[in-house]
Amino acid sequence: MTQSESPVDSHNFRTVSGKPLIVGTGTGTKWQWLKKGRPEEERTKLTQELIDQLLLALNNGFYHIDTAEIYTTHPEVAEAVEQSGIKREDLWITSKYNPYRNITAADALKTTLEELKTDYLDLYLIHTPFFSDESTYSIETAWKEIIDAKKQGKIRHIGVSNFAVQHLERIFKVSEPEFYPVVNQIEFHPYLQDQSADITDYCKKHNILLEAYGPLTPLFRIQSNEADTAEDPLRKVLPKLSEKYQKTDSQILLRYTLQRGYLPITTSSKVQRIRETLAIYDFELSAEDVALIDKEGSTFHFRSFFDGKFD
Ligand code: NDP
Repeated sequence: MTQSESPVDSHNFRTVSGKPLIVGTGTGTKWQWLKKGRPEEERTKLTQELIDQLLLALNNGFYHIDTAEIYTTHPEVAEAVEQSGIKREDLWITSKYNPYRNITAADALKTTLEELKTDYLDLYLIHTPFFSDESTYSIETAWKEIIDAKKQGKIRHIGVSNFAVQHLERIFKVSEPEFYPVVNQIEFHPYLQDQSADITDYCKKHNILLEAYGPLTPLFRIQSNEADTAEDPLRKVLPKLSEKYQKTDSQILLRYTLQRGYLPITTSSKVQRIRETLAIYDFELSAEDVALIDKEGSTFHFRSFFDGKFD
């Protein structure tokens, strides 16, 4: 199976130069926490470790970069892109509007483009639907500004992240079908198969591409005190599938993510894992094995992000 035949390619998203949208490399989580722990004046300093990691990913074949205002990693992305020598039109860069700050989407986008040293984003997402209760600035107002930015050519595609059905419906009410969100990036792995009620089916029905963050959660976020082997069902299943397909545990999980119709956003600092991540388009899990991961995974629940927001 080639990259262009990937199970989520039905949306036909392409870089400007025509490369299909494939698995993305993230710049959040680890880096976000790292910078938040620093004094304010040091947060804008470039993190060499992240530049090196991005360069490793870019030099080994990644061209889809996932960043966000809240991660404060735009400057490192710009630096790594420049150092890689890869043309802008060969890259897919996603960033996200942070609704927690007292700043409009239009203003935030201006700064984002400056920090990334680019004229356009391939994809711009509203990072979460959880806007401040104290502000009159709403999902609807932000979305209208994002539509305007798309009309001005500053954004190629527009979407959302961590949106539940009721949040998507609010957007549908205020926009023409031409400007409906085309992506919803949410937490997804076998232990969280629907971040919020019915979200997977709803997005598929409305032709919204699902992007999965945290797809490798079962491999490293479940601590032994939270689940022993008996409770953590994939610990028994993954080694068997790994043996059967001659692929690593993470490749099995990432391939499962793709076959469930989600495009994975993942990350690694290790060259071997980076290469393994890109090698998920040359094999296919049987429908029975996808169903097995679904079934075993659904016997255990784990949410890493936004706990309590969707219950
Ligand atoms: P993953 O679940 O893919 O986890 C990546 C981590 O897994 C890395 O730290 C990596 O460490 C480790 N890893 C990789 N392979 C293995 C393995 N075989 N065994 C054990 N550990 C492994 O993704 P993240 O949760 O980190 O998120 C990825 C991106 O998604 C973020 O950077 C961000 O861009 C986006 N995101 C978006 C959110 C949103 O609200 N929209 C929320 C959270 C994330 P190592 O370096 O050692 O390989």
